[in-house]
Amino acid sequence: MKTLTVDLGERSYPIHIGHGILPLLPEKLAECGIGSPTPLLVITDSAVAPHYLKPVEELLRGAGYPVTTSVIPSGEASKSLEMLDELVKVALEAGLDRKSVIIALGGGVVGDLAGFVAASYMRGIRFVQVPTTILAHDSSVGGKVAVNHKLAKNIIGAFHQPEMVFYALEMLRTLPPREVRSGLAEVAKHGLIWDAAFVEWCESNADKLLALDPEALEYALYTGCSVKAQVVGQDERENGLRAILNLGHTIGHALEAVSRYELLHGEAISIGMVGSAKLAVRFGRDPVIYETTKRLLRKLELPVAVPSHIDTSEVMRTMMYDKKFKDGRTVFVLPEAIGRVEIVRDVPVAWVEEVVEELK
Ligand code: NAD
Ligand code: ZN
Repeated sequence: MKTLTVDLGERSYPIHIGHGILPLLPEKLAECGIGSPTPLLVITDSAVAPHYLKPVEELLRGAGYPVTTSVIPSGEASKSLEMLDELVKVALEAGLDRKSVIIALGGGVVGDLAGFVAASYMRGIRFVQVPTTILAHDSSVGGKVAVNHKLAKNIIGAFHQPEMVFYALEMLRTLPPREVRSGLAEVAKHGLIWDAAFVEWCESNADKLLALDPEALEYALYTGCSVKAQVVGQDERENGLRAILNLGHTIGHALEAVSRYELLHGEAISIGMVGSAKLAVRFGRDPVIYETTKRLLRKLELPVAVPSHIDTSEVMRTMMYDKKFKDGRTVFVLPEAIGRVEIVRDVPVAWVEEVVEELK
């Protein structure tokens, strides 16, 4: 098991990561001040529950914790105010108080939703992330929690840091292959924004990653989490540096929404990252950036083109909810080299539209 620390200055929290570590969960909870008999509410989803809810529940009960469980429907649609309402009811009926703790057992959907319940219930209670997807190496670290509104994704949310991230990689074995690929897009992103050597490593080890080779996976997720932890440690509330984590997300979020979530998050940001690289080249950056980005994402079997049935003008309209378009210009995170990005403030909206169209 490896441990990283997210250092936020006034406080910090650990990320434990490794294969076969699930039995250590009660011990690690106690180490971060959540000893038994703290009441726990375990929130998970309908695809994760059949595999892992019982073992987790037994483990926690065995260690003396009173445990309530709640299983939400799997999928992005659960990141909603209706589901928040439902979980608040569960929490109230279970008698959760301000000392209770929520355990988010699942991917980014469970993590974002359960984290937002924790952020808002009784003005904020503690929570722990137990990620079960590759993508959640990103979403579980950094404290951004949210639900969606029908007009915009992640628009109702908070910054609420977990007490711990506990990443037992043995739980990734049951992930559907498409979810594996989607998660690898955020791994690639962490390389593209921060670490050129890691980009090279990902490209050389793409086959191993796709096959969930334990050693390769642990290295990739450890490296990805450590990039995220460093960025968040320097800028917890996105006043500056943290914005670089949004590489590929302006176009990506719009594609996700316009496809009615047929495109998975990672698939959409994969296309978005290729779009950002294309934009960077228009700003005079080396075309190698575009070629390398595209080659890496292709190796990870991710889409690099906008599906032809998607309407570019709808993508542009949707993007306007996400970004401020002022005087025909907007802000974008663009690569300036592989492993380095910059925030560009005067990107012509017309160029973005042309790039989306060219990507078809
Ligand atoms: P997800 O939680 O929907 O999980 C993907 C699918 O895999 C779901 O069907 C889920 O039920 C299933 N699943 C999860 N773990 C499994 C396992 N171990 N075995 C079998 N099936 C499993 O999606 P995700 O890709 O993990 O996360 C996407 C979400 O994360 C989006 O809503 C996105 O906005 C959010 N996100 C948030 C942040 C953040 O900083 N908060 C960052 C990135 C993404
Ligand atoms: Zn993302």
